[in-house]
Parts: sequence; structure tokens; C-alpha cells
Amino acid sequence: MDSRAAAADRPAPSEWCNWSGHQGACPGTFAQPETLGALRDAVSNARQLRVVGAGHSFTPLVPTGGTLVNLDRMGGLRLVDLESRSAWVGAGSRLRDLSPAFQERGLAFNNLGDIDAQALAGAGGTATHGTGLGLSCLSADITGARMLTASGDDLDITLEDDPDRLRAAQVSLGALGVIHELRVALRPSFRLHRRSWAEPLETILVNAPARWEQHRNFEFFYIPFSGWGMCIAHDETTAEPTERAPSTDDDDVMKLKHLRDWVGWSSRLRRAILGRVVKGVKPEDVVGDSWRLLANERNVRFNEMEYHLLPENALDVLREVIAVIERERPDVFFPIEVRRTAGDEAWLSPFNDGGRISIAVHSHAPDDDQWFFTHVEPIFRRAGGRPHWGKLHSLGAAELADLYPDFDRFLQLRRELDPGNKLVNAHTARLWGEPHHE
Ligand SMILES: Cc1cc2nc3c(=O)[nH]c(=O)nc-3n(C[C@H](O)[C@H](O)[C@H](O)COP(=O)(O)OP(=O)(O)OC[C@H]3O[C@@H](n4cnc5c(N)ncnc54)[C@H](O)[C@@H]3O)c2cc1C
Repeated sequence: MDSRAAAADRPAPSEWCNWSGHQGACPGTFAQPETLGALRDAVSNARQLRVVGAGHSFTPLVPTGGTLVNLDRMGGLRLVDLESRSAWVGAGSRLRDLSPAFQERGLAFNNLGDIDAQALAGAGGTATHGTGLGLSCLSADITGARMLTASGDDLDITLEDDPDRLRAAQVSLGALGVIHELRVALRPSFRLHRRSWAEPLETILVNAPARWEQHRNFEFFYIPFSGWGMCIAHDETTAEPTERAPSTDDDDVMKLKHLRDWVGWSSRLRRAILGRVVKGVKPEDVVGDSWRLLANERNVRFNEMEYHLLPENALDVLREVIAVIERERPDVFFPIEVRRTAGDEAWLSPFNDGGRISIAVHSHAPDDDQWFFTHVEPIFRRAGGRPHWGKLHSLGAAELADLYPDFDRFLQLRRELDPGNKLVNAHTARLWGEPHHE
């Protein structure tokens, strides 16, 4: 090991945990290389290895007792091509650091999810998405990837030269290699006009399909036990930015919790109070830079399950999910989020057979989340849903092979690039149908 690699390898933190605190690990080594050479050493010295981006996945994709690699120190812009509107960046770069750097060059991500704290490789690696009928998940904008495989080979894959491998790498959950650089397709920077408003659930459900057609970005949050939801629409504008009041989202969700604690015993009382409270929420109407308005800060810790459903039955599935929660789970108070994403071609993208509508249920981190699996996942499964790779689900290789036409192709490539299963942990062993002996 060279001296820079030694300096970058710290004794492992006694414990690593993800954002929600529910996934933990005691890695033997924690490597934060600053150079490709140091990364190469970390990979070749490791017996087992996983990469962590920002640790914002709810599924145990990251935990390992072997080497945990993080590429925060290899982040940043490498090369910006204004003509093709694309940029090579360090794969560990956080989305929230990239957006202002892109804006300085007149560029922006096509879309963003609910937050932008993730590393680009982490977000892309799990098909992180925002909302918009014509907007694909972030992975679809990845057009090039440079990675070190488990055996230390350098791969430089671009959409032009090797479209198949690129489509495999776009959503690869750290299974094909350690990705150290990514090329991302961008667009000219832009402003959005954001509006949010409260509406009865029935009105939202009737209007949602048209609103997805009408707005660049449209999503809604249903507030359980209220009969009401909050809609959010974003549309492109050239208007000047306006001042935005600080977000009250964290406080609002805690108010929902308090209301659950006080009147959760009576659905009728809860509905009456909540209905009035949600109806009274002031609409928002602001203009700002796309990335400032699309991404939020989330400080109240939760766990989440999200399935991507066929547009034909997704809103009926939502009704079923709401009915079961309101019938059997008075402890639930987090809003249910509903978004729409366009199709793409990545082998493991949940959107690779066309656009889907995503329904996400959340549970406060201190609360029990088993109801995701007992009450909600069976509904998603019956409807042919595909789970978000970074959010809780119970599927293994057999179920995934049924859902993804390219699953076997991905497994074959994974075995070719990682024949010794160095990059496999307990969770991904289950996904790939491999034995695990860490
Ligand atoms: C508050 C919150 C809000 C969220 N909002 C959304 C949302 O709006 N939309 C959505 O789709 N998801 C959302 N997510 C989920 C999140 O975007 C994904 O789980 C994403 O993968 C997290 O990125 P990360 O950088 O934290 O990756 P990690 O969780 O650290 O890693 C994810 C996967 O990527 C792999 N990986 C990371 N870096 C590399 C690398 N350099 N090379 C190879 N593999 C790598 C890891 O091994 C792992 O398999 C949210 C999560 C939270 C906690």
C-alpha cells in the first residue's frame, strides 16, 4: 500500500449507520482515498468491500464487516463540455455541491428528487427519481462511467462506445465495481415557478393525470386520516426569483405526530381536526432556481418503502394503501408521497418498461415499520410494482428476475466483473441469489 493510501485509510469508525439510523455496520477498514492509486490499493487489499455515498439508502446496501470505501475526497467537477451540455464529475460528489457548480457554467440537472444530499454515484446507482411525466430518473442522465472492478481492472464505459455496459452501470448498486467518475447529461440552467396548495383527496385523484400532463413537475402528499392532500407543481419560467419563506416541513410533520399522539384513538376526531388544519395551509407561490426549489431539507428521521407502479392501476393501488392504513394503522402519520417518472433503458431501472407512478409510505424512525411489509407491500406486489432499490422491500433474486427482463443479463455481467463476490454483502447476496459468507 502506498503512503497516500495508508494516510487515507482510517481505522474504521466503531459503527457506521445510515441516515435513518436503522442500518448499521462495523467495517474492518474505512477508506477515504484521495487518488485513484489509493482507491486501487483499497480495492486490492480488501477481502470484502462496499462503497458508501451519503448513506441515505434505507435498504442495507452498504453494511460490510470488510472495507467500506467512501469517495467524498475524490469529488468535484472534472470536465464540463458546454457544447454537448455534459460534465465528468467525481462520482462521490454530492448533488447539492454539483448544482451550484453547474449553475456557474449555465447548466443544471434535468431533475432532482426530494433531497440533494446524495452522492451522484449513490443516487444514480439506485435509480433515484423526482417527479414529472416527461422526466426520467437521474440514472438515465448518466452517459459515462469510470470504475475499478473487484479485480482492479479499469473500465471506461460510455454510451457511445458500449451502450450495453452503460445501461448496466447506470443502476448497479455498487455491484459491478467502484465507480470513481461519472459523466452526466445536463441542460441549460433554468428557473421554476413553484406552487403548492391543499385539496381534498378525491379532487386530487380526479385531477392528477391531467396535472402530470400540464405541469413540468407534479406530485402530491396525502395526509393520512385527513381526507386531504398537498399538491406541488413546478413549471419553467423566466420570471425573476421571489423571496421564499423558510420551510416549515419538519415542524409540520411533527405536528402530525402530536395530533396522532393526542387523538389517534379516534379516527373521526382526527379526521375532523386534520381536515380543518390541512385545508387552512397557506398556498405557496414562488419563483427560484430549479435546484433550490426541487430539493428540500429533511431533518425528521424516517424509514421508507416506495414501489413504482404501472400508471394504469397506481391510483387504485393508492386508494387500497390508504384504506388499509386508515383501517388498521392509527400509528401512521407521515404523508404518503405520489410521483411520476418517465421511462428509460437501464437494465435495472424500475422505469425500464415505461413511465411509472411511485407511491411512498414513511414511518417515523423511532416507530415500528413492520406494517410496510405486512400491510402495504402485499398490495404493491399484487399490482406488479417494482421496489425502489434504496428503500425498504423484501424481494430476492427470484422475485426480481420475474420483474426485470434484463435481470439475468445483469447477473451474468456481475459474475464476470466480480467472480469472487468481493462486492457482495448480506443484502445484495439475497438480491443476486448468491451465497454470502462475510
Ligand atoms: C431523506 C431522504 C429523501 C430521499 N428522497 C428520495 C427521492 O426523492 N427520490 C428517490 O428516488 N430516492 C430518494 N431517497 C433515496 C436515496 O436517493 C437513495 O437511497 C440513494 O441511493 C442515496 O444516495 P447515497 O449517496 O446516500 O447512496 P448510498 O445509500 O450511500 O449508496 C447507495 C448505493 O450506491 C452504491 N454506491 C455509492 N457510491 C458508489 C460508487 N462510487 N461506486 C459504486 N457504487 C456506489 C452503494 O454501494 C449502494 O449500493 C431519499 C432518501 C432519504 C434518506
